[in-house]
Amino acid sequence: MSGFKVGIVRLGRAAGKTKYALLDEHDIALVQQYAFEARVDVDPDGNGAKIYAWAYDINRGRASGHFVHELLWEKHCGGIAPGWKVMHKNGITVDNRLENLSLVPSNRNCVPIEEVPSKNRETSLYWVAIQQLPTDPIQEQHYPECLYNRFYNANGEVVEEDDDTNVYYECHYPPCSSMEKELREFSICGRCQEVRYCGSYCQQKDWPIHKKHCRERKRPYVTERPPDR
Ligand SMILES: [Zn+2]
Ligand SMILES: [Zn+2]
Repeated sequence: MSGFKVGIVRLGRAAGKTKYALLDEHDIALVQQYAFEARVDVDPDGNGAKIYAWAYDINRGRASGHFVHELLWEKHCGGIAPGWKVMHKNGITVDNRLENLSLVPSNRNCVPIEEVPSKNRETSLYWVAIQQLPTDPIQEQHYPECLYNRFYNANGEVVEEDDDTNVYYECHYPPCSSMEKELREFSICGRCQEVRYCGSYCQQKDWPIHKKHCRERKRPYVTERPPDR
């Protein structure tokens, strides 16, 4: 990381994890004017959900909100014409360094140009940067605020849920940013019934840390009501 500086903004809880946004160092001053939060956008075409950084002007309120990648594009590169959108080259939708952003026709599918292979998640810039934080980002995931999830419905309104019926999960292994494409797609930890993983690779890698927090769920986890007789 020598000779290379990146700003990190805490976005808060989304999709079962604490998320952060990466910004170029010179864009970090935006935090003086904007409040940042994580926004989970559910694709209306059924391609799951993605976590984005969202920011609104502190003096103008939440209605003034923008996606951070659009805000930054407009600040540095000019307007976004109708029919175009800003995408994240490496597929990490909270990595808003200008060099990771690219303007593409909006009908282009969101397949990242250089997606991080699953076995290289630990070396992704996002994870390398997050690990520089003074607080342990893994421990922080167990603060009580994780009891609710904020997301946005199709009208862009904030909805806060105290259950997870409509929540898409990101893989719990901190370096992994795989996101469910369907509700309940990822397998749940059988012991605590709280955290979800995209696959056995991430579950095994996360276990040495997760086992310190994993508590066996006392009452049986009922997903369906038994049939009436
Ligand atoms: Zn994973
Ligand atoms: Zn567990």
